[in-house]
Amino acid sequence: MNRKLLSGDEAIARGAWEAGCHVAAAYPGTPSTEILETLAGFSDVYCEWSTNEKVALEVALGASISGARALAAMKHVGLNVAADPLFSAAHIGARGGLVIVTADDPGLHSSQNEQDNRFYALAAKIPMFCPADSQEAKDFTRLAFEVSEEYDVPVLIRITTRVAHSSSIVTIGERAERPVKGYEKQVSKTVLLPVHARIRHVDLEHRLDRLRAYSERTSANRVEQGERRIGIICDGVAYHYCREVFPEVSYLKLGMVNPFPASLVRKFAAGVDQVIVVEEVDPFLELHVRSLGIEATGKDKLPRWGELNPRVVRLALGRPSTRRQEPREGSGEISTSAQAVNSRQPNDGNGLLGTVAGTRQLSPDKAIEPEPDLPSRPPALCPGCPHTGLFYALQKQRVIIGGDIGCYTLGALPPHNSMDTCIDMGASITFAHGCDKALGRNDPRRRVAVIGDSTFFHSGITGLLNVVYNKSDVVVVIADNRTTGMTGHQDHPGTGRTLSGEETVAVDIAALARACGIERVVAVDPYRVKETRRLIRELLKQPGPAVVISRRPCALLVRLREKPRKVNTEKCTGCKTCLGLGCPALTMVGEKTMVLEDLCAGCGMCADVCPQGAIE
Ligand code: SF4
Ligand code: SF4
Repeated sequence: MNRKLLSGDEAIARGAWEAGCHVAAAYPGTPSTEILETLAGFSDVYCEWSTNEKVALEVALGASISGARALAAMKHVGLNVAADPLFSAAHIGARGGLVIVTADDPGLHSSQNEQDNRFYALAAKIPMFCPADSQEAKDFTRLAFEVSEEYDVPVLIRITTRVAHSSSIVTIGERAERPVKGYEKQVSKTVLLPVHARIRHVDLEHRLDRLRAYSERTSANRVEQGERRIGIICDGVAYHYCREVFPEVSYLKLGMVNPFPASLVRKFAAGVDQVIVVEEVDPFLELHVRSLGIEATGKDKLPRWGELNPRVVRLALGRPSTRRQEPREGSGEISTSAQAVNSRQPNDGNGLLGTVAGTRQLSPDKAIEPEPDLPSRPPALCPGCPHTGLFYALQKQRVIIGGDIGCYTLGALPPHNSMDTCIDMGASITFAHGCDKALGRNDPRRRVAVIGDSTFFHSGITGLLNVVYNKSDVVVVIADNRTTGMTGHQDHPGTGRTLSGEETVAVDIAALARACGIERVVAVDPYRVKETRRLIRELLKQPGPAVVISRRPCALLVRLREKPRKVNTEKCTGCKTCLGLGCPALTMVGEKTMVLEDLCAGCGMCADVCPQGAIE
C-alpha cells in the first residue's frame, strides 16, 4: 500500500489528480494556496493563478461545461468574490465534475474576517463535504468529483486552517483517467436567461432531493457507537478534538453536511441520552439539529468564534463523569422519535458532561482565551522590506489612507500609522473614492489608497476606473514588490511568469494606469526614502487623481548581498529618526541606535534617513 505524509492542501491536490481533474484555477490565499502549488506539479493538470477568485471559478466552470473535470480553490473570503458565478453554476450544473474548495480560517490566522462558508452550500443549494484530516481531504475530493458528475451539480469542499496545514499519513492511489467529454451546446442549460433559469432552478431543487437521499447513505457520514449517555454530532477537525477529550461517547461524524442527513441525525439522537453538537465558528449543524425538534447542547457552551482545540472543548464542556447512569428502558433500541429524545432528563446535574475534581466548565467567551504567559510578538515588516520606505514617506502627511490586503497592511501599525482602513481586496481605492465624495472640500486632507501589485490586478483596476470615471481626487499608491508577497511569492499578471514558470506578458502597471485615464503616473524607489517622500509630498499638493508606483522587489524574493550596516556611535545623537522606519534590525542600546547584524539586509534605508550620516 502506498502511503505518504501530506498536508490537507496537498491531499486535496492529490485527490483531484487521482480523480482525473484536467483544469485547476485559483487565486492564492492562506490557507488554500498550496492546493494549486501542489497540483501544478502534476503535468497532466492545467493549473493557473487566475487574477481573482471569480475568474478562477468561471475558468473552472468553463472547463466543466466543456466536459473536463475542473477544480477552483480559494480562501474563505475568496468565495465572497466568487459568489456570483457560484450561484449561477449551481443552476447550470456540471458536465465534467466541478469541485470548489473553500479554505476557512477560524481564529483569523491570516484573514480580515472570520466567516463560516458552510452557509454558502446551503444558500447556493449545492452539496458540501467537510474533511477532518488529510486522508479524508483526499478521499472526499475524489468523491466530490463523482457526486458532481452524477448529480450534475458543483460540489463545495470546506477545509479549515488546521486541516489545510496539518500533515498526516494518506493512502494514495493512481490517476483514474477521465477523457474530456467535449463541448456540447446546451443553450437551455448554460444560457441563464430568465426563461431558462426558472426551469434550471426547479431542476436544481429536484437534484437536491436526490442529494438528500444520497447524504443519508454516504459513507462520508458515519456513526461510531460508544456509550449511549452522550452522542456528539460534529464535522471537520472538531471530530478529532472531541475524540481526544471524550473517547468513550457515541459519535455521528458528518463528512457531508449539505444536504443535511436529517433521518440519520434523528436516528442517532434517538439512540443517545443527550445530544451535543461540536463545530467551529457558527452553529450550522446545531441549527439543522434543532430544526428537527431535537434538543441539543452546542453554542450555549462552546464559543462561536475562534478555533476549537481539545483544551477549548474540555474547558467548555467539562470532562465526562466517571459515574455511569442506570441503563434506561429500551436503551439498546433506536427510536426515531425526536420527542422521545427531548423528554429525557440530562444525565447529570453537575455540568454538561459532568465534571471531575479540578476541572471547571467555562463560559464560551472564556474558553478561547489564550494560554496565559505566552510572550507576545508584535507583527513587523521584514528587514529590507521596500514597504518600510514607502510608509516612512507617507508618515505625517495630511492624508486619509485607505489600506488593502497584503503584508503592507502592517503599515497601519506603529511606527507608521499610515492606514485608516482595511476592508477587502481592492477596497483601498473605492474607500478613498467614497471618502472623497463624502468629505469634498470640507476636509483638507488628501485621500490616498495604498494597494499591492497583486491586489491591484485582483480587484484594484475597477476601482481605479471608477476614480477616473466619477472624478475624484484620489492618489493611488501601488506598492509593487513584484510578487504576491503575503501568500508566499506567487506570480501574477505583472511578473511575466505563469504558475508553471513559463514566460508570459508582464503587464506594465504604469501603462495600465494611463490606459485607465490617469494622466499623472509617477514611479518611485522606496529605498530612496527621502526622494520618495519629496515626490509624494509634491504630488499631494496638486489636485486631481494620480498613481504612484512604489517599485522594489520583496526583500525575501531578491535577497540583498549587501553588508549589514553599522552605526557610528560618535555621530549618532540618539534622535531616533531611523526608528521611524520600523525596521526590526534597528534597536536602541542606551542612548544610541544599534543595527542587529544578523537581521540587517543592508538595504540602506536607515542610512538615507539619518540626519547625522551616522549609519555607514
Ligand atoms: S537617525 Fe541617526 S542619529 Fe538618529 S538615532 Fe538613528 S542613527 Fe542615531
Ligand atoms: S540597512 Fe537599515 S533599514 Fe535596511 S535592513 Fe539594515 S538596519 Fe534595516
